[in-house]
Amino acid sequence: MPFSALGLSEPIVKAVNDLGFTEPSPIQTQAIPIVLEGKDLIGSAQTGTGKTAAFSLPVLNGLEPGKKTQVLILEPTRELAAQVEEAIEKYSKYLDEIKVAVIFGGVKYQRQIDQLKSGVEIVVATPGRLLDHIGQGTADLSQVKVLILDEVDRMLDMGFLPDVKRIIKNCPDERQTLLFTATMPREIESLSKWVLKDPEKVEIGRSRSAAETISHAFYPVVERQKYKLLIELMSRTTFQSVLIFTRTKFNADMVSRRLERLGHSVAVLHSDRTQRERTAALADFKSGKAEILVATDIAARGLDVAGVSHVINYDVPLNPEDYVHRIGRTGRAQTEGDAFTLLTEDEVKNSKAIEHFIGQKVERKKIEGFKYMYSALFEAEEKRSAGRTTSRLFGRSGR
Ligand code: AMP
Repeated sequence: MPFSALGLSEPIVKAVNDLGFTEPSPIQTQAIPIVLEGKDLIGSAQTGTGKTAAFSLPVLNGLEPGKKTQVLILEPTRELAAQVEEAIEKYSKYLDEIKVAVIFGGVKYQRQIDQLKSGVEIVVATPGRLLDHIGQGTADLSQVKVLILDEVDRMLDMGFLPDVKRIIKNCPDERQTLLFTATMPREIESLSKWVLKDPEKVEIGRSRSAAETISHAFYPVVERQKYKLLIELMSRTTFQSVLIFTRTKFNADMVSRRLERLGHSVAVLHSDRTQRERTAALADFKSGKAEILVATDIAARGLDVAGVSHVINYDVPLNPEDYVHRIGRTGRAQTEGDAFTLLTEDEVKNSKAIEHFIGQKVERKKIEGFKYMYSALFEAEEKRSAGRTTSRLFGRSGR
């Protein structure tokens, strides 16, 4: 089915065709007609499914220029906000009079104030900075017709829900609301009851499952050999671009410094870096100038980085859902990808939570020829938890 069959106007269809999108993705096919009808929507879709276009295209379709903020999109991180703004700029390239502003913290206020003053139809924002602008009277949400709450579960994790609620109170009651979340904890369920009217539901795939094109495995190792194993894995893999996730900023800096010393070109993304550094890191990785991006999870969730050949979890994610998100960076748009997760004894509990969450055992792999240090703790952990033998840790795939 072509995009034009969905009821989108010609300038929008032309813009997506320019981008090489030949047909709508499943979430686009389902969501676009609902949004065009003006209905509220609750969507669950993994990142990489074309979610941004699913909400942006139909919203752009009905938009009349008027220098008033008619569309507000809330995103959990600066990078996501910037990414959505960039996408909308592309989708609206034949709609000359539509202006978009991106509002997030960590940068100076003045440019944002000037932009908001000059009048924009669409605002893409992170909650904190937008609230500052509302407080100072530089952002006016009284004319908002469409409110889009994206990655709401991530906003919940990051403690933004109170801010989000305050922002919603500044929007008119009479509006269309679209809410996207991968999971539905109680807080989000009650938020959605409050913000949505008679919503249509769109669900793409099981948000718990890992994309089918990704092969993923755990690599058990003792803490002291973690970095060595990382290097070993990388030296045995032909990769074009690697995304390495760490749990802490400290590990992100440590791993990137050491990889740089080995001659790799490395970009680093975490919240202690300035906005300028974060933007540059992402741009370098996207352009291929940096072959490796080391990032903490918070900084990296949902980022649209195309063509990542490998994802390596240097640390096992604490939140099982983040595992799915992290490894989802590879295998985007149905391309093949590999995801490796280093697993130390301290993290066995987290690895089990992941397997429980995705409803699947993850294969344990051992690298042939690597001089593993013996770890009695692995054995003890395995015996304690399942009464199985150590071969489970380095053994066959489960189930
Ligand atoms: P998203 O899930 O919005 O982050 O989109 C993931 C990636 O898919 C982005 O790089 C989009 O540009 C791309 N994309 C979105 N819709 C389509 C489509 N219909 N055909 C091909 N690529 C698409």
